[in-house]
Amino acid sequence: MTEIPPPPAVTLSPIGVIESDYPDKFGIPRQPGLAPAARARLVLTPPFDDPLAVRGLEAFSHLWLTFVFHQSPLRWTPLVRPPRLGGNARVGVFASRSTHRPNRLGLSLVELLEIDTRRGVSLRLNGADLVSGTPVLDIKPYLPWAEARPEARAGFAPEAPLRCAVGFAAAAEATLTERVDGASLRELITQVLAQDPRPAYRKGAEQRTYGVRLRDVDVRFRALAADAGTRMEVVEIVPA
Ligand code: SAH
Repeated sequence: MTEIPPPPAVTLSPIGVIESDYPDKFGIPRQPGLAPAARARLVLTPPFDDPLAVRGLEAFSHLWLTFVFHQSPLRWTPLVRPPRLGGNARVGVFASRSTHRPNRLGLSLVELLEIDTRRGVSLRLNGADLVSGTPVLDIKPYLPWAEARPEARAGFAPEAPLRCAVGFAAAAEATLTERVDGASLRELITQVLAQDPRPAYRKGAEQRTYGVRLRDVDVRFRALAADAGTRMEVVEIVPA
């Protein structure tokens, strides 16, 4: 028997970079589509910013992006603690969507709204779960007839996570009213906070105020105990 040689190392060049509503990792929902109001732009970089390279892509409504979790450490461990399991139970890294993984590769299904080829190429996207600055390695059109499998078993994450109710205090309401993007920002804040972005080990209701950065603002919120689970209250929205 001949021994199988180790596979060769590979070098990859990002084709573009993400500009998104998320300046910061903290608070980003854990899968795309959980905050469909999140806007992003994928700006292709030379030599990949050739309009020919995206010809025909406009006819697809959804895309797969492969990208690098560039803000995750290079270190990885075989076991990870998915937030879904409360941050205590461990599963194999390859049984998870953890950002702490070998090669730090990410995969997200996003909605394609528009392709702009006026200067280079940029794609307007909805629902991306990516921090601004994320390097993207590839784009592929999504094929629902081959890839949508609603009957599939989904291990420890069989259903979409529960959503919390979200309310806005008067000060936060006032800021939203003043902004031209008030309506879409409200929608984004609601979808992000509905996921309860607090760290898993803090999930009790407490008085502490947290901040999550969205677009150019810091959204200050706290968790209140409510009849049906936890309720998030936006205390104020301040410039970041
Ligand atoms: N849909 C992807 C991402 C799942 S993890 C996949 O399955 O591969 C989603 C988390 O990745 C988000 O909550 C966010 O905090 C984190 N994240 C997004 N962009 C990142 C980046 N560039 N580096 C490190 N972490 C990132």
